[in-house]
Amino acid sequence: MALDLTDLAGQLRRFAADHNWDQFHTPKNLAMALAREVGELLAELQWLTAEQTEPERLDAYRRAAVEAEIADVLIYLVQLADRLHVDLERAITEKLESNEARYTIERSLGSPNKLP
Ligand SMILES: [Mg+2]
Repeated sequence: MALDLTDLAGQLRRFAADHNWDQFHTPKNLAMALAREVGELLAELQWLTAEQTEPERLDAYRRAAVEAEIADVLIYLVQLADRLHVDLERAITEKLESNEARYTIERSLGSPNKLP
């Protein structure tokens, strides 16, 4: 299944409207909800060693929890972008192009350091 972000945004918009939740979905609240869900994702991995967070080492329970939190993060991210009229496809394309220009192989090969 290919993920269509525009379709997902529409589904989430309808779900929120059906539940009369639009009143709560200010950009501020959606950003805070996004941060909370990122925190929930981090909590699933928090006390594991780096090796224990590798996919083949996650048990079924932890894997299901991580998947659910990743879904929550994407849902709130798409809702926030939709609410702010951000064209996610354009924004991501521009960011990828910017990263390609900024982090050339010559400057960044094997280095985890981000450029200022
Ligand atoms: Mg969650």
